[in-house]
Amino acid sequence: MSLVQLEGPRIYSCSKCRTHVAHYDDIVSKCFHGRSGRAYLVNQAVNVKLGPKEDRVLLTGLHTVCDAICQNCGLVVGWKYEAANNPSQRYKVGKFIVEKAKLHKEAW
Ligand SMILES: [Zn+2]
Repeated sequence: MSLVQLEGPRIYSCSKCRTHVAHYDDIVSKCFHGRSGRAYLVNQAVNVKLGPKEDRVLLTGLHTVCDAICQNCGLVVGWKYEAANNPSQRYKVGKFIVEKAKLHKEAW
C-alpha cells in the first residue's frame, strides 16, 4: 500500500495514525458540521478509500454520499459528496467533508 505524502506546511492528517488526508489550501469552507462537530469542505482528500454510496438527508437537503475512510487505519474521517438533489448544493459534488475532530494538524 502506498500512501501519498502531502507537501507542507499546514496539512491535516488522520488523528489516529497521522496519515496525511488534506491540505489547508484545499479548504473551500470551514462552515460545515460533521457527525462529531465542526467540519471542513475540501476540494480533495488523499489516502482515503470510499465506503458504499448512501442517501443522507443533511441540513441542506438530500445528498448521496460515501464515507471517506483512512486507508491506513480505517478511521472514518468524513465523507465525499457524490450527488445533491438541490441545485444550489451541487457545488459540493466531488468534494469531501473532513471532520475536525478526526484530524491532526501537521507542520503548522
Ligand atoms: Zn488513519
